[in-house]
Amino acid sequence: MNQRIYLSPPHLNGLEIEYVQKAITSGWLAPFGEQIDLFENNLQNKLNTNKSLLVLNSGTSAIHLALKLIGVTNGDKIICQTNTYIATANPISYCGAEPIFIDSELDSWNMCPNLLEDAVIKTLKAGIKPKAIIGVHIYGMPFQADRILEIGKEYDIPIIEDAAEALGSSYKNNECGKIGDFGILSFNGNKIITTSSGGALITNTKSEKKHALHLATQAKTSSTGFSHDSIGYNYRMSNILASLGNSQLTDLDKRVSKRRKIFNNYKNELEKRTPLRFQPETTGHYSNRWLTSVLVRNEDERNQLIAYLEGDNIEARQNWTPLHTQRPYLNSPSFLNGNSLFLHQNGLCLPSGSNLSETDQDRVIDRVLQFFG
Ligand SMILES: *Cc1c(COP(=O)(O)O)cnc(C)c1O
Repeated sequence: MNQRIYLSPPHLNGLEIEYVQKAITSGWLAPFGEQIDLFENNLQNKLNTNKSLLVLNSGTSAIHLALKLIGVTNGDKIICQTNTYIATANPISYCGAEPIFIDSELDSWNMCPNLLEDAVIKTLKAGIKPKAIIGVHIYGMPFQADRILEIGKEYDIPIIEDAAEALGSSYKNNECGKIGDFGILSFNGNKIITTSSGGALITNTKSEKKHALHLATQAKTSSTGFSHDSIGYNYRMSNILASLGNSQLTDLDKRVSKRRKIFNNYKNELEKRTPLRFQPETTGHYSNRWLTSVLVRNEDERNQLIAYLEGDNIEARQNWTPLHTQRPYLNSPSFLNGNSLFLHQNGLCLPSGSNLSETDQDRVIDRVLQFFG
């Protein structure tokens, strides 16, 4: 059996041990320490922003805290992209709020601005003001930020930008993560950089960051007296994991260009010779190509291709399953055009890790060619 090719495995660059050692010798085996401050500064520099940034134990907790900062509570309505990983929407439920799902347009595969505006208008007409809009840069491809921000502004609804998959992507030269009123990143094991588990919240103001930090550390009012002024969470990142983040971040630009190169290699080799169609990148959108996602002609073909690749020990996966079709959210209101279901039924992701060798890319390409042979 050939060696397994994974979809998007952690990519070590060799600096990790040295950086983690620094954190350990400092003695700060805690959710405090200089590696955390450093990681926050380094991320701000990468995003080219003086917005505030707080590192946390996951991207999911970052979304939860963004909703908390907005004041989301029981019964509130939150508008959310349906074509995404379920972690985008679950924090809405943690708050006792309810999602309203929005389908995708086919240029970026993200939230359709027309359906979004339709949803806002209809919800307002019913006497309810949505508390927030969550857009996602799926597989690293930026959403239609101009129009979505404009709608947020016009109806005075804050935008949460789920950039979990999009560190290193940009929209009209603005780095993803700093585009919305709140931005979130993830450093989960399969993301473009990893701290094994981790995330970040980007806010417009220092006082929002301060509030988020307070909530992320059990809402303590003093460090000695165990006094707490509200119900907080244990969401802060540890100093050790921040050191991993610092080592991983040193070569982010290389990781982005490697993933883009892999995408282009697949596209050049496969687009003309097979029915595969590739996720587009339209003017103004710059994707880190976190995952190369492609469409085939129907659901059977998708399943067969995934199984065929698996037969050679190659991991490919279906595109995200739209949230409005997932059991916890079957009763949620949705504004649909069929696109996200189409992208799911016909779509799959090919191995895209930034440590994927050219030999392994050739193996994937050959196997796909054989399938359509
Ligand atoms: C990975 C991911 C998240 C969640 O991040 P975690 O760090 O795993 O909690 C949220 N949204 C999207 C789109 C993701 O891909």
